[in-house]
Amino acid sequence: MNETQILDTVIVGGGAAGLTAAQVLGRARRTVTVVDAGAPRNAPAEHMHGYLGHDGLDPAELLAIGRREAQAYGVRILAGAATGVRREGEVLVVTVGDEELRARTLLVATGLRDVLPAIDGVVERFGRDALHCPFCHGYEVRDRPLAVIGGEIAAMSVHQALLIPQWSRDLIFFTNGLEVDDADRAKISARGTRIVDGAVAGLVVEDDALRAVRLADGTEIEREAVFVGPRLEPQDELLRALGAERVAAGPFPTVPVDPMGAVAGQSGVWAAGNVVNPMAQVIVAAGAGSVAATAISAHLLERDIATDLARGAQ
Ligand SMILES: Cc1cc2nc3c(=O)[nH]c(=O)nc-3n(C[C@H](O)[C@H](O)[C@H](O)COP(=O)(O)OP(=O)(O)OC[C@H]3O[C@@H](n4cnc5c(N)ncnc54)[C@H](O)[C@@H]3O)c2cc1C
Repeated sequence: MNETQILDTVIVGGGAAGLTAAQVLGRARRTVTVVDAGAPRNAPAEHMHGYLGHDGLDPAELLAIGRREAQAYGVRILAGAATGVRREGEVLVVTVGDEELRARTLLVATGLRDVLPAIDGVVERFGRDALHCPFCHGYEVRDRPLAVIGGEIAAMSVHQALLIPQWSRDLIFFTNGLEVDDADRAKISARGTRIVDGAVAGLVVEDDALRAVRLADGTEIEREAVFVGPRLEPQDELLRALGAERVAAGPFPTVPVDPMGAVAGQSGVWAAGNVVNPMAQVIVAAGAGSVAATAISAHLLERDIATDLARGAQ
């Protein structure tokens, strides 16, 4: 690529959101570079569910296909982390290592970080038998001895305790220091779930599989999978570097975007996927990437028409 080339779009983040946008814009014959640090959120999981036509696919395979498809339309995929962004007039300048990418528009699709509870073994078992999302993993652990371990967001833990009996009636809710009021306890018990108070010290793993949950007093209670409630931390440093601010909407504050993914107050900047919608599953993140791509296309077209008119008037 020419050092001084101004691209139509730089997409930061090559997960489902970013690659879908890349494919749409590549097919629209726009010049696009995707910068990707290569650490998608669902990397710990071996299978992806809930994506029509791809149920059970290895998540890494979906992205490998996505990269190939985007590249076939001329999209450049640049491995690395974007560490900074600034404006030079109407141009957005994105820093990646020693390289600076200049573009007319920017799509931030950098996902989020799951901040897991500090319980021994949870990080190592995450995505295997320490789970966060029953829609992603519940069916695979159906009818087995399960647990919910109370986390820092009480509403999420209580919700999991009420929801997960849908997959297994053999469920224990370890409150792990959470204050759970009498009304919630009544609902959870009515769902057939046993409530165990007291702190959880760690997960007991044998032969590479979860065997039990260990309480702080040393008691071990046999379980085959546990659900935890991570804090969902948007990787929105680039958006905030441009001046965007998070707004509290629900338990996880995010930078607000309009229904097309345009970032409020940031001309030429869009965001899609988990970075601005922590609840988005893969198919939703991909959909948001597609929507943002069409909005970016419309924005570029408007600017192209203005340029053509100005040229014609000369
Ligand atoms: C264990 C687990 C299992 C899951 N299972 C499922 C499932 O079965 N079905 C389902 O629908 N959903 C599942 N999910 C949710 C799924 O991971 C998200 O819906 C999806 O990853 C969101 O896509 P995204 O494109 O927004 O972000 P991501 O897939 O996280 O992609 C973001 C990309 O941006 C890159 N990036 C971040 N910052 C930078 C930067 N500064 N510069 C360059 N690149 C950067 C990252 O490295 C990453 O490659 C699961 C999540 C977890 C944690």
